[in-house]
Amino acid sequence: MDRMGATVRTGSGELAPAPRADRWRNALILVVTRRCDLRCAYCPTAKDGEPDLSVGDAVAAMRLFVERYGGGDCKIFGGEPLLVPEVVRAVIEAAPPSVQVYLSTNGTHLDDAWLAFLHAHPRVTLTLSLDGEARDHDGLRRGGSSHAPVVAKLPELLKLPRFVVTQTIAPSTAVRAASNFHYLRSLGIRRFNLLPGYYLPWRDEQLAALEASFTEIGDSIERAWAAGERVYLRNLFVRAPVAFYNTGFVVDSDRRIYANNLILAGNLDHLRERATLGTLDAPPDAAAFAEAGQASTAFLAEELGEAIMVATARADAVLTRLCNRLYPAYFAHRARLSA
Ligand code: SF4
Repeated sequence: MDRMGATVRTGSGELAPAPRADRWRNALILVVTRRCDLRCAYCPTAKDGEPDLSVGDAVAAMRLFVERYGGGDCKIFGGEPLLVPEVVRAVIEAAPPSVQVYLSTNGTHLDDAWLAFLHAHPRVTLTLSLDGEARDHDGLRRGGSSHAPVVAKLPELLKLPRFVVTQTIAPSTAVRAASNFHYLRSLGIRRFNLLPGYYLPWRDEQLAALEASFTEIGDSIERAWAAGERVYLRNLFVRAPVAFYNTGFVVDSDRRIYANNLILAGNLDHLRERATLGTLDAPPDAAAFAEAGQASTAFLAEELGEAIMVATARADAVLTRLCNRLYPAYFAHRARLSA
């Protein structure tokens, strides 16, 4: 699960002041494998013919991130990270207390052993991809159905100390984004990350549907907060210089180092050499990484073309408007909780 968003998020649109400092500069993005069994229609990651990161390399990347780049958040992405469980476990165990670890997954490989492991590592945030009702969730997954097995695991997942659901919204499902959000809430989910499909050719009517759905979701969240419910929206706390993608210290499954996981997109594969800033054997120093990173993010975005960038910026602006609208209610809600 590379949600990119998964972790993904408010993007590059204009924002009201966020409740906490930007952390995108200090994020280790570990692409432990590019493989994934689900093959979501909206997922651009090139998945075939790539190696997996080894345990040794993943732990070395963590050490490098802390010692050379100052540490921060660690986001374990894929593909589907739980296809290499030994690598994921090693990274979590190697993370020092100063590093907050986020594990994104499609949920199909979560079993009792994983639940026990996550309970034993309560500082890890598990981010599960669940888009809403089966019709839309499974309808977008070309590699198999995951809705029923994932929903069956929810009662146990909801007991985890840090558990967030990423609701990805494709252009074709934007019209039902609010009803899918209500459905997820009806399952007991209270912590969300909303993710409009990135780098997709959103049409005007689809963006209008997204706007209407986000208005309804915003109304619902405000009502919940007013009633004292602890609904959490991760997007309120994340900012990124490039919409929807994760900028930071990206270590790919083949040990290359990039500044942005845009490069995972299959249609940008030909730019891999140009975007490479080093490898785990020859990593860039922090200053060179910062400088070259900005340039590589710019040319990758340029390569995607104006139409896609405009569509992405418009979808991102819809999400940004939702966040900006919610900040006052969020601060009021927080004040009530701490009173
Ligand atoms: S679960 Fe879907 S979005 Fe995540 S890596 Fe697999 S195909 Fe991509």
